[in-house]
Amino acid sequence: MNLPVTNNMATMQPVEFFRKQRIQVDLLRLDKIHTVISGNKWYKLKEWLKIAIEQRKEGVFTAGGAYSNHIVATACAAQYAGLKSAAIIRGEQGEKQSKTLADARSYGMELHFFSRKDYGLLKTGLENSGLIPANWLAIPEGGQGQPGVLGASSILDIVPSLHDYSHIICAVGTGTMLAGLTNAAFGHQKLIGISSLKGDDNLTSEIKKWQNENAAPFSLLYDYHFGGYAKHPPSLLNFMNELYRITEIPTDIVYTGKMLFGLQDLVKKGHFQDSDKVLAIHSGGLQGNRSLNSGQLIFL
Ligand SMILES: *Cc1c(COP(=O)(O)O)cnc(C)c1O
Repeated sequence: MNLPVTNNMATMQPVEFFRKQRIQVDLLRLDKIHTVISGNKWYKLKEWLKIAIEQRKEGVFTAGGAYSNHIVATACAAQYAGLKSAAIIRGEQGEKQSKTLADARSYGMELHFFSRKDYGLLKTGLENSGLIPANWLAIPEGGQGQPGVLGASSILDIVPSLHDYSHIICAVGTGTMLAGLTNAAFGHQKLIGISSLKGDDNLTSEIKKWQNENAAPFSLLYDYHFGGYAKHPPSLLNFMNELYRITEIPTDIVYTGKMLFGLQDLVKKGHFQDSDKVLAIHSGGLQGNRSLNSGQLIFL
C-alpha cells in the first residue's frame, strides 16, 4: 500500500497558552499527517485496510455522518490502497450536499443515504446488514473495533521521550483512540479522555473491553461536550478563535476544540502539579469545520 502518510509530518508543539501553572504541555499535531486522511482516522483505518488487502477484498464498506472525518478519510485511503469504497450515510435532505460527501464521492466512494432511525439500526451489525457486497470488508463507524484500537496504539510510537509524560489527554467519540493509547502508554501515565458526547454509561466498560492487561489507567470527563455531539455554541467558537490567535493552532468544533478547552479548564482549576508534563493529542478533523458559515472561525 503506497500511502503519502508519514509519521514524521506529525510535529510536537509546546503550547504556551496553557502555562497558567508551570506544567509543560506538548501537542502532537496529527492534523498535519495528511490533508484528507487526517489525524486519528488514519491510525484507526490502517489495520482495517491491511486486513482488506490481506484478504484480497474488492472494497471496504463503512458508515458515518454527512460531515464525518472517517467517511472522507476512508474514501481517500481506500483509493490509495486500490480498493473500492462505499458507505451508508446518516443524512437528511440538505446534508446530502456537504463538502465532506462531495470529497468522498470524488475519491470514488458510493454513498447510500438513510434516515437517522434506519441508519441507527443498520450501523450496528453493519456486517450482517445485507448491504455489504460479496468479497467486501465492513469497517464499523469511525473505524472502531479491535483493528482500530491496535492502529491507534501506534500513535504513541511517534512521540519522542514518551516516558517523560505524566498525562496524556485526547478527545473521545467511540473511545477507540483512547483505548489504543492506554494500551501503548506506560503504567505511570494517566490518560484523560474528553468526551464530545453527553454522558454514556457504557463507554467506560466498552473501553475496558479493548484494553490489554498492562493498560494505563484512564478517566473520562463529560464536562466539556458543549451541549452534545457536534454542538458548537459561541463560547466554544470564541475559545477556538482565541487559541488560534495566540498559538496559531487550528482546532475542530467536534473534538479537538472541546479537548483543548477542557485541558485549559483543568489547568485553571489546578488539576495538575507543577512538575507534570502533559501530552495532548491533536487528532485532526479540521475538515469538519466546513459545516460552519464562513467568518465563524478566523482560520477557516
Ligand atoms: C473521530 C475523532 C475522534 C474520536 O475518536 P474515537 O476513537 O472515536 O474516540 C477524536 N478526534 C477527531 C478529530 C476525530 O475525527
